[in-house]
Amino acid sequence: MSEKNLADAVSKRRTFAIISHPDAGKTTITEQLLLFGGVVREAGTVKARKSGNFAKSDWMEIEQKRGISVTSSVMQFNYQGKRINILDTPGHEDFSEDTYRTLMAVDSAVMVIDSAKGIEPQTKKLFQICKMRGIPIFTFMNKLDRDGRDPMDLIAELEDVLGIEGYPMNWPIGMGKELKGLYDRYHQRVALFRPEDEEHRYLPLNDDGDLVEPNAIQDDDWYRDARDNMELIGEAGNQFDEAKIASGDQTPVFFGSALANFGVQTFLETYLQYAPEPASHHTEEDTDVAPTDSEFSGFVFKIQANMNPNHRDRIAFVRICSGEFDRGMDVIQERTGKKLRLSNVTEFMADTRETVETAVAGDIIGLYDTGNFQIGDAIYTGKSKIKFEKLPQFTPELFVRVAAKNVMKQKSFHKGINQLVQEGAVQLYTSYSTGDYILGAVGQLQFEVFQFRMQNEYNSEVIMEPMGKKTARWINPDQLDERMSSSRNLLVKDSHDEPLFLFENQFAERWFKDKYPDVELTSKL
Ligand code: GDP
Repeated sequence: MSEKNLADAVSKRRTFAIISHPDAGKTTITEQLLLFGGVVREAGTVKARKSGNFAKSDWMEIEQKRGISVTSSVMQFNYQGKRINILDTPGHEDFSEDTYRTLMAVDSAVMVIDSAKGIEPQTKKLFQICKMRGIPIFTFMNKLDRDGRDPMDLIAELEDVLGIEGYPMNWPIGMGKELKGLYDRYHQRVALFRPEDEEHRYLPLNDDGDLVEPNAIQDDDWYRDARDNMELIGEAGNQFDEAKIASGDQTPVFFGSALANFGVQTFLETYLQYAPEPASHHTEEDTDVAPTDSEFSGFVFKIQANMNPNHRDRIAFVRICSGEFDRGMDVIQERTGKKLRLSNVTEFMADTRETVETAVAGDIIGLYDTGNFQIGDAIYTGKSKIKFEKLPQFTPELFVRVAAKNVMKQKSFHKGINQLVQEGAVQLYTSYSTGDYILGAVGQLQFEVFQFRMQNEYNSEVIMEPMGKKTARWINPDQLDERMSSSRNLLVKDSHDEPLFLFENQFAERWFKDKYPDVELTSKL
């Protein structure tokens, strides 16, 4: 591909994740987006897969049980000349560190909020990672067809709870049964909800914010309320600021209903206008790798195991950071210095896994892997070695004690545990006092996958004893005294031999802080 063609292709990529709390409407909105992209023809396709009706013969058992599919991990479609990659961030029990790491591979995020509930815990956690990366975040306040909270409250909550300015792009005219439409100040029009005739779906507004042509809606109280609120915000609220949007300090807010397909298309089109192209990636040598660099580079942000139990293959998900991928190309794996040929590669569509021929910076490819890759691995072509900045570590919340069922099989147990920990499947801790192995995760699924893979790949049956939720806090080794440990704050070390406490709960942490006011406790992300 010529330099110009590469730059063209890269500039069309938009790669993002949808972050939300379970049930806010992520699946429904994703489906609408895929419908616009012409990838699925019927609503319900993604849903069916989610509920497990979409069984494919080659999923691993856990995948089948849970209906998780590699095909829905990345969805790709074209819209208005742009190539869109949506990366899935699973919720519910499927939540795992991979969910967090996926956010390392996107250039922007869409935050879906249930307008009756406001900001919920999982959204908050995912938001924090986006915030740390300083990527643009676009907000969709969903379920407007139901009675929800006051829009002004919802906007204020963004600032109060998340610390991000909200800029309403439109304002609901009514809500629930009273939903009449959206007062869209950005596009200077009113969008009617369920208009009598399609031709009059949009009513233009003049520069003063009044309807250009008289319409019955202007006598509606909800309309006047929406217009007044928009005017008020226009005068006293946050001003639309592209630089702040780009740095993740302001989020444009769109109201709508994913289920009623109201406001979604406007959202998508406006989003595409502001969503950033693929960004540069920083290296440990303090240089930047630009997406338009002609040499190929990328990093592994997620590994999904055992797609096919007969072959025990895994898929390593790679975010391309620069250049172009060509089928069969040779790359260097930074960690080992090994040369690898990328021939068995897959690209992701909503319905099928298709073999990919070419892909460019911004795209995601899936490499069939027989155990070569670890999370965070960089691959590249060219003479200069590329080592991307390390992926961050996350603070696990769930813990189990783990041991080999058969004491005679310690060797395979240790081999398996070491490899899976290196790969980033779970985190491993060792108790100071007893030497017990403790696994940490952000989601229950990680333990199940661990157990399954230990059995299937390392022939090691493990016993896991749940310890429940704990608060993990790292302590400066110089300040550590082993006598600080108690049953309510278990002292362990992580896989880098750094000490930390697992606090029973917040009270235990507070009690500790009161007792040892000079001791510094830190968390990871
Ligand atoms: P996810 O868990 O975030 O993927 O949420 P889903 O997309 O599965 O939606 C959760 C539930 O909310 C489902 O029953 C949807 O039909 C429903 N839902 C999603 N969007 C809307 C909406 O705009 N209005 C209403 N009334 N329900 C919605």
